Amino acid sequence: MVEQIKDKLGRPIRDLRLSVTDRCNFRCDYCMPKEIFGDDYVFLPKDELLTFDEMVRISKVYARLGVKKIRITGGEPLLRRNLDQLIAQLVQIEGIEDIGLTTNGLLLKKHGQKLYDAGLRRINVSLDAIDNEVFKALNNRNIKATTILEQIDYAVSIGFDVKVNVVVQKGVNDDQIIPMLEYFKHKDIEIRFIEFMDVGNDNGWDFSKVVSKDDMLSMIEQHFEVTPVEPKYFGEVAKYYRHEDNGVKFGLITSVSQSFCSTCTRARLSSDGKFYGCLFATVDGFNVKEFMRSGVTDEELLEQFKALWQVRDDRYSDERTEQTVANRRRKKINMNYIGG
Ligand code: SF4
Repeated sequence: MVEQIKDKLGRPIRDLRLSVTDRCNFRCDYCMPKEIFGDDYVFLPKDELLTFDEMVRISKVYARLGVKKIRITGGEPLLRRNLDQLIAQLVQIEGIEDIGLTTNGLLLKKHGQKLYDAGLRRINVSLDAIDNEVFKALNNRNIKATTILEQIDYAVSIGFDVKVNVVVQKGVNDDQIIPMLEYFKHKDIEIRFIEFMDVGNDNGWDFSKVVSKDDMLSMIEQHFEVTPVEPKYFGEVAKYYRHEDNGVKFGLITSVSQSFCSTCTRARLSSDGKFYGCLFATVDGFNVKEFMRSGVTDEELLEQFKALWQVRDDRYSDERTEQTVANRRRKKINMNYIGG
């Protein structure tokens, strides 16, 4: 039986984002800059990560509170060994209707088939450029965009529903919007352009680096005939458009210019097993891992999850100003712990 709960702002809980590792094989400046995450950086030891059994138990309890969707994030989730074993268990949980994975795509050829066989069907690939040189400068690992495009082709060929996410930074990769739209339009793959946000502590964000949805759209309309698409459901985070000629959809995610906190139904579990009600949380989250390891029952866990949700009042993006950004500087949870 599902118990419907709401947070302080009346938002139900629908989505759970599980970060399965804090490691990544890229060093993108806005997430894990190489100056900070260098060779001597100490990542979480194995016993600090939630085990798969713990994640499954958490997911089962959240399903009883109304969670229907689970998204696997990182770091880079494909670096977590035997991830297919987690997927195989999550797909069986009663009430969970949808499981997605967000990845940089580099290891899809290596692990894609196992994940598909385990029951995963939806993958979001984060790819911020299609030009090899621009992409190499972004990932700081000398990885070419064409390498990721091949991995995407492979994932599509084995049956995955793939979407591509692009974080757009002014003067860094905004010149990639048109060529990427052109490429993925012909591939019949949905691409979403995301306004650059001040996630984590190390991404050097300020308002001047944001390309707004309106600016992206007017750029796009100079090259393509597009029409808006009606939202599929209330609270859909992307504004969707369709290419007039072949009907392929693309999205613009207005995380800064038109925030969507009022419909944010996401709970997050960081790679070190803490609960967060918001991507921009500053206070250290409740330590679910320690709580579970102290021997609590499922009922106690459920009561704890309820209590955590019922006091949630996060709406950071709604309130974002120069001042709130300055106030939170250096205090947020880093993105490699909490996913995007
Ligand atoms: S800022 Fe926080 S509350 Fe608002 S949409 Fe983002 S994660 Fe949700």
